[in-house]
Amino acid sequence: APDTPALAWRHGFADLGPAFYTELRPTPLPDPHWVGQSAEVAGLLGLDGRWMASDEALQTFTGNAPLAGSRPLASVYSGHQFGVWAGQLGDGRAILLGETAQGQEIQLKGCGRTPYSRMGDGRAVLRSSIREFLCSEAMHALGIPTTRALCVTGSPAPVRREEIETAAVVTRVAPSFIRFGHFEHFAAREQIDELRALADYVIDRYYPECRATSAFGGNAYAALLQAVSERTAALLAQWQAVGFCHGVMNTDNMSILGLTIDYGPFQFLDAFVPGHVCNHSDTQGRYAYNRQPNVAYWNLFCLGQALLPLIGEQEVALAALESYKSVFPAEFMARMRAKLGLRTAREGDVALIDGVLLLLAQGRVDHTIFWRRLSRAVAGGDFTPVRDLFLDREGWDRWLLSYSELLAQEGSAQAADLMQQTNPRFVLRNHLGEQAIRAAKLGDFSELQTLQRLLARPFDEHPGFDAWADFPPDWASSIEISCSS
Ligand code: AMP
Ligand code: MG
Ligand code: MG
Repeated sequence: APDTPALAWRHGFADLGPAFYTELRPTPLPDPHWVGQSAEVAGLLGLDGRWMASDEALQTFTGNAPLAGSRPLASVYSGHQFGVWAGQLGDGRAILLGETAQGQEIQLKGCGRTPYSRMGDGRAVLRSSIREFLCSEAMHALGIPTTRALCVTGSPAPVRREEIETAAVVTRVAPSFIRFGHFEHFAAREQIDELRALADYVIDRYYPECRATSAFGGNAYAALLQAVSERTAALLAQWQAVGFCHGVMNTDNMSILGLTIDYGPFQFLDAFVPGHVCNHSDTQGRYAYNRQPNVAYWNLFCLGQALLPLIGEQEVALAALESYKSVFPAEFMARMRAKLGLRTAREGDVALIDGVLLLLAQGRVDHTIFWRRLSRAVAGGDFTPVRDLFLDREGWDRWLLSYSELLAQEGSAQAADLMQQTNPRFVLRNHLGEQAIRAAKLGDFSELQTLQRLLARPFDEHPGFDAWADFPPDWASSIEISCSS
């Protein structure tokens, strides 16, 4: 077997000191096997492809063998869950192995109990690990900021959820896994020195421009809050445009880098139902698709409150948050214009976009199929396949008339090009994930690999794979995805 990779390490987070984490090792799992790997993420880490195929790599990423030079730890954070202060949480089943010299943190999720596990078993099941693996890489391919996934390994070890399932470990990769909840933790405990050390670390490493700014009278912490607000706004615009529902937008699941993080009961919309709630445990619908942008602002407000001891003045913190209210709509409009193939901003854009979204909602039209068919119609000139999606054909015809005028101004060919690169043909619909999971439970990973390949290039046609781009089957609506993972 090839030698163990000589990864160079840097360990920025670990250097913050023991107030931020507990050092500990993963708890081994018996008889691991490979479930999936991303060659792209391996390349990002500089991991040799042959080593990634070795038993040593399999043991390493199951948590059974240490990675040379790593400094495993579980970090402590707190947070608001479903709008309520939850107090101390933390990495209850994730262990950070460390940060590579290139600035990528490597984390094992599902690798055993930690001091922050509370009532949990420290494990993750195969089902949810496959969903996280596929979706992280799918989001990346869609151009949406996200934590990445290097691999998933499975083990026959039983894990009790609603039923007995089996254990799996996802290896996640990101420049940082710091969440809003990390800041809330030290603010709530009035540990202001630690709060400042954390903020300084985040600024120096990820937002150095906040030091140089003259905004807010040179208040770097206010500048940080504004920068995070803007990144979060841009992220939410991308989620909304592609029809992604996160499902558990608690403040401990909000990345300080504006990455999509913590894939649980997420879902890509099938029918465009603005009030859709993907998380079966979310009985109040707090995290419904159309509430996500407001929830993100609410979460940023919590971050602002946590940073207040550093920022100083409440008015300054509020001013820093204010940017969300202009950046989100601007980013959302930019995304929607691109979906329509329009490069130029115009007076009537909001009405045009509201108009089509209303038609989609009234007809419960399939979101992904609509946008892809529209892209093809603009390219080829035949709008019948799009019209067929609507019940209100007259309403559609009226909308199309006003859209066609803009297309004529911009040029259909140019618009079609932009649309093909903006409106994916393939997204990780629940039923597709479910099919890959069912096969994987029987030891067949071919469906997972097919999905991985399609989702890695979601804007390509992939002739012969029409079934993966089709409407969901009837049974898809009966899939219940909850927080149980
Ligand atoms: P989540 O809803 O996935 O964001 O998880 C909320 C908190 O519960 C986090 O602190 C997780 O680390 C923890 N947690 C979730 N599942 C488990 C588990 N099976 N064992 C231990 N901790 C868990
Ligand atoms: Mg979480
Ligand atoms: Mg989770």
